[in-house]
Amino acid sequence: MTQILKIALDVPLATLFDYRADSAGTEDIGRRVLVSFGRRKMVGMIVALADHSDHPAAQIKPVLQVLRDSPPLPQEILALLQFCSDYYHHPLGEVIFTALPQRLRSDQPNALPCRRAYALTTVAPSPDELPTRAVVRRKLLQFLQQSGAAPREALLDLSSSAARHVKEMLALGWIEQTEEAIPVPSAAPSTGAPVLPQLNQEQATVVAEIHAAPPGFVPWLLLGITGSGKTEIYLRLTASQLEQGRQVLVLVPEINLTPQLEARFRTRFPGVPVVALHSSLNDTERLQHWLLAQSGAARIVLGTRLAVFTPMSDLGLIIVDEEHDSSFKQQDGLRYSARDMAVARAKQRDIPILLGSATPSLESYQNALAGRYRLLRLTQRAVEEAQLPVIRRIDLRTEKPVDGLTAPLLRALGENLTRGRQSMVFINRRGYAPVLTCNQCGWIAPCLRCSSKLVVHLREGRLRCHHCGHEERIPRACPDCGNPDLAPVGQGTQRLEDVLTEHFPTARILRIDRDSTRRKHALKEMLQEVHEERVDILVGTQILAKGHDFKRLTLVGALNVDGALYSADFRAAERLFALLMQVAGRAGRAAEAGTVLIQTQFPDHPLFEALLRQDYEAFAATQLVERKQAGFPPFCHQALLRAEATRLETALDFLRKARKLAAADDPAITVYDAVPAPMARLAGRERAQLLVQAESRQTLQRFLHHWYSALSALHARQTRWSLDVDPLDF
Ligand code: ADP
Ligand code: ZN
Ligand code: ZN
Repeated sequence: MTQILKIALDVPLATLFDYRADSAGTEDIGRRVLVSFGRRKMVGMIVALADHSDHPAAQIKPVLQVLRDSPPLPQEILALLQFCSDYYHHPLGEVIFTALPQRLRSDQPNALPCRRAYALTTVAPSPDELPTRAVVRRKLLQFLQQSGAAPREALLDLSSSAARHVKEMLALGWIEQTEEAIPVPSAAPSTGAPVLPQLNQEQATVVAEIHAAPPGFVPWLLLGITGSGKTEIYLRLTASQLEQGRQVLVLVPEINLTPQLEARFRTRFPGVPVVALHSSLNDTERLQHWLLAQSGAARIVLGTRLAVFTPMSDLGLIIVDEEHDSSFKQQDGLRYSARDMAVARAKQRDIPILLGSATPSLESYQNALAGRYRLLRLTQRAVEEAQLPVIRRIDLRTEKPVDGLTAPLLRALGENLTRGRQSMVFINRRGYAPVLTCNQCGWIAPCLRCSSKLVVHLREGRLRCHHCGHEERIPRACPDCGNPDLAPVGQGTQRLEDVLTEHFPTARILRIDRDSTRRKHALKEMLQEVHEERVDILVGTQILAKGHDFKRLTLVGALNVDGALYSADFRAAERLFALLMQVAGRAGRAAEAGTVLIQTQFPDHPLFEALLRQDYEAFAATQLVERKQAGFPPFCHQALLRAEATRLETALDFLRKARKLAAADDPAITVYDAVPAPMARLAGRERAQLLVQAESRQTLQRFLHHWYSALSALHARQTRWSLDVDPLDF
């Protein structure tokens, strides 16, 4: 009987496609297939089998090939991807092919990479039977006798003429070629068991509480200030999972910035196979790590958001570090939250999940307050002598900054330099200056493709758009009035670096931002310099804020933070607080207390009151009150319909039609007006958006389900649209 296969394809259509095959069975669900689609050949995935199709038999094409070169995607992952597709209202085919490593999206052979190896055959002589002058052959035979099978490279290492002898021995039938799987990368076995620190009281309580919980799905929220020993908790929980024969998945926001975490896992579990999954791996490595996780060979998977879909048959625990970080949310294509998918996965698999942060997202924190998550706290720094930093505000109304820096900050930097300590100056803007203006007519260099200004990059003599990447030479004169006196206004990391060099000519100053770390390994090398104390003053963007443990850093200055205090974006304050807590966490990790100086026009803002005491919960409480009054998340659930076209009117028009379709009589749903996006023009496209809101997630989901089908049927001429469920930026 001919089998109908329901195939998911990587196309923007919310449907599965019917193909037939004579030689496919249930064991092939989750396998990739090669099919012809229109005029192209495409790789698809078998999602289900059926015994009949609604299409006439003559129209149903046979699959060209079922690709059996790698194990099928487990049912469990398919179910998770289906959930993801349903929740984000995104076609299943695109979801599946977003999740898969690049190599699995193609029809290339994908078997777990192997290397050539050789083994002795039954007719091989023993080494002693050979004359003593056959030195190389005796050596090779001996080596193979001892090792069973040996990889080709190991044999070639034995002698410079080994290659020739291997070839001859193959011809003689003494050895045969076999394959050996590439071993899983893991730390070299250390000489002894790693020394575990004694858990402090708080840590011990946390671990005991988690261990005492009944097995099954429990979402834990670990709220612990920087340096309180959260990572130590992750390691302990991982250890007990490994003992029980389970795998552990650890998600981090940006693995490039946290090589220390990977190193800590590797040294704590010597000999335990750990693999990383993140975007800076090449395609082969990514595939290899994915398959090692799926086969169970890798026991710990450490990865960024894309790792949340990694098949792991023995998965026993998921850990999400820095759970509040917005890089867990993908901001294009399939706009999913890896943190939320991790929770869904843990629930589906009925295992615990631990979300950790010093500044949880208000969504997660509210979940904990409401009893949906279980809250655990670490309130003290783990290393006894490690003091909390002292945080001070510098009032910009009385202390006038020169080139961005106030006198008290300069003084503190000078003193720290004299004492031989490291300092960091943090500003959230790369480049030299945010704008270039004409002193005569007020012209400001605009990006012609975006509704934004061009940033001055003086070193390179260029103006750059940080949104679309457009760049041009710095003009010699104002294009409007011809005045040659153009001035960069405001501060960026480059300018700050220059200014600090003028003030402290003998200091070793290092700038770390996206521009200075573009080269591969640049960031790693720079961090190394900092650790080796070859740097006195660090200047940088938020790249510096995350995770790095600088032992000698005792002073942090924060510039230009005010924009977020009164922003139209209701999440701006939450983000600023998290960022400043993280920045503060860099100071005084070691025995010496650190100082954080924040330059602000609004020293009385309540955000700073909570920050001075490093009191996340006080801050969260005030924010939650505001959010509740305003009816913002987490007290409601949102979805954003985004549309873009070459003309703004076209995009708005589409959204107005969409709004009519949404004119649901359901009072539980609020549909706002179609408006231009805050950045209406991006890379030459005009963008508009429409916000939908409901008090309960279920109500919103039910509404979106119907609306999405209606939208799909709408003729969206010349408009690209997408739905963003739980949007983070507007
Ligand atoms: P977090 O992840 O919360 O920032 P870490 O787990 O990195 O904190 O701990 C901060 C520092 O304290 C690290 O250097 C770690 O090795 C050390 N540490 C953690 N727990 C203990 C403990 N119980 N005893 C001694 N040192 C500890
Ligand atoms: Zn001018
Ligand atoms: Zn631009």
